[in-house]
This record gives sequence, C-alpha cells and structure tokens, in this order.
Amino acid sequence: MPTFQAIVIDKVESGQSVRLTDFDDKDLMDGDVTVRVEWSTLNYKDGLALTGKAPVVRRFPMIAGVDFAGTVESSSHPAWRAGDKVILNGWGLGETHLGAYAQKARVKGDWLIRLPARMSARDAMAIGTAGYTAMLAAMALERAGVTPARGPVVVTGAAGGVGSVAVALLAKLGYAVTASTGRPAEAPYLKGLGAAEVIERKALSGSPRPLGKERWAGGIDTVGSTTLANVLAMTRYGGSVAACGLAGGMDLPVTVAPFILRGVSLLGIDSVMCPLPLRQEAWRRLETELDRGKIAAMTSEIALADVIDAGRRIVEGQVRGRIVVKIP
Ligand code: NDP
Repeated sequence: MPTFQAIVIDKVESGQSVRLTDFDDKDLMDGDVTVRVEWSTLNYKDGLALTGKAPVVRRFPMIAGVDFAGTVESSSHPAWRAGDKVILNGWGLGETHLGAYAQKARVKGDWLIRLPARMSARDAMAIGTAGYTAMLAAMALERAGVTPARGPVVVTGAAGGVGSVAVALLAKLGYAVTASTGRPAEAPYLKGLGAAEVIERKALSGSPRPLGKERWAGGIDTVGSTTLANVLAMTRYGGSVAACGLAGGMDLPVTVAPFILRGVSLLGIDSVMCPLPLRQEAWRRLETELDRGKIAAMTSEIALADVIDAGRRIVEGQVRGRIVVKIP
C-alpha cells in the first residue's frame, strides 16, 4: 500500500496527539488534483492546530498545515496538468481538508494558484499565507484611500510573520511605517525591514479610551483585542485599519467613537475563503512589489519533523519573521 510522510493530528482521550507518521494514499480526501508538496510554512493558525489551543481542526485524523507550494502530479481538472507549479492557501486546508505538512495532497483544482514565474516554491512559502494576508490588507487600505501621502501607518505584532511582511511591504510601497512590537530588542530588525519608527506594544495595550491622540492614517493589525481598540482610537480622521489577527485575543473592547466622530473604517481581512480574483491579484503583486531580499532575511528553514515544536513556539510569540518547512 503506497504511503507518504505527514504530520497527523488525532483525537485521543486526553485531547489530541500529533506525530510525524506514514499516511495511506487511500485515505486522501476527494479532489481533482494531486500535488507533490515541496514546501510549506508555519503560520499562527498552524500553531493553534498543532497545540490544540484553539479548535482549528474540524475532522480527525487531520494532516496539519494550511498552505503549501508544490508540483502537480496528476489532474483531472481542466486548468491543471502534471508538472504545473502551484500554491494553495486556506480553503480549509489543515482544518476541514487534509493539509500541507505532507509529501502529498489531493485538493480541488479550483483552490490552486499558479506559482508566479519569478518565484520558487520556497520563495512562495517564505511569503506564505502570512505574506499573502499582509498583501490583502495593504490592498484593502489602498481601496479605502489610505495612500502614503495621508500619513504614517501602524503595524501591530510587527515582529511576527504577517507583521514582518506587512512592514516590509508597506515600506516598499512608500508608507512611513510605525511598527509596534512586544520585543523592543527587535527594533533594529524592524528598522531593517523599513520601519520608520518602532513603538512598544504596551503603548497600545492599556485600557482603550474612546478616542486618543490622532497618530496614523491607518494600519494593519494582527493582534486584535485592546491593541486593535487602541489603534482605532488613535487613527486620524477618515483613516482605515485592516484587521486580520487575534494573537492578543478575539475580543474588541472599542466604542463607536472612532467610527462616528472621526469617520474611521475597520476593514476585515480573510485569507481563507478570499475569492480567486483577489488572490490572483495579491500573488501577482507579491511577485513584483515585495523586496525578496528582505523576505529571505526574515525567513528561517525547518524540517517536517521540527514542525511540532515550532508550532508551540509560534503560539508563545517566540517566532520572529517567517519559517519555511522543507518537505522531504
Ligand atoms: P506570529 O505569531 O508570527 O505573529 C503574531 C505576533 O503578534 C507576535 O510575533 C507578536 O509580535 C504579537 N503578539 C503575540 N502575542 C501577543 C499578545 N498576547 N499581545 C500582543 N501582541 C502579541 O503569527 P502570524 O503572523 O502568522 O499571524 C498573526 C495573526 O494573524 C494571527 O492571529 C493569525 O491567526 C492571523 N492571521 C489571519 C489571517 C486571516 O486570514 N485573517 C491569515 C494569517 C494570519 P511582537 O512580538 O512583535 O509584538
């Protein structure tokens, strides 16, 4: 019986078990494209799934991993042929559909994006769902009229994966970026990515007032909770904030004051079910508008067997920048 290696999460009496093991080809789920996975990456959500800290996984056994890049092995989907290089982010991968930390994946062809010509599979996963989400957020700010001329923009959770790419991306697009981090020792790293200013997380973690001093034209928030509430209260008249994360909590202790007194907008960002045209646009722009050298500098590499420990570290806020996972 053909098998392949995978990180498998199973339900046990004490909660869940996670191990690197052999998985039977015959247990792959339905799909019209089979992909040889070459690279994956570690996202905060992967950490939540691997540690069981949040109910990310909706079926057991589950192969963890929410995104991959690889090569099509076989396809009955009209858009894809054997040998095509592809990327997959989200669509329930690693949640409801067997995921990315595996040598093989069977998925729906409709979920796939073609790997941009000037990107390797490793490059794509160094960007990963984190970078693609940062781009979706930057595009949302642009649509809302937050241009560099409108003033500085803030990025919270700046030393994390989404945050690091967001800082690099917004700086490259010409914004003056204020990076908020709980790790002040990472200030030189964040300045190296292009941050004009680095502020401490605690400046945004106090009990939020309805309105604060107007500081930025907008921002990308990966933290949620009091941090997002403070960011909104400090956003200038007519500004917009793209919310994509919950690393600090899922609640939002905000008043309506920023919305009704300053015309501030809160923009929701979802990468998982994001429609295809927006995904294609995001990856097209990531190919050309991101400083690949900066991405390389923020990326470290681990083996499939190291994913379980790295999952614990990311939910503890110990991971800086991006981690790619080499699939053997
Ligand atoms: P990371 O762990 O790499 O980054 C999160 C960062 O948030 C940390 O590095 C840290 O940055 C900061 N942080 C962590 N804990 C706290 C806390 N308790 N209070 C304040 N700040 C904290 O994760 P990712 O970058 O992969 O993901 C970031 C968030 O975005 C996650 O919540 C994730 O689920 C979400 N996400 C959402 C997507 C979507 O589709 N909406 C897609 C991808 C990610 P620092 O040390 O600099 O303060």
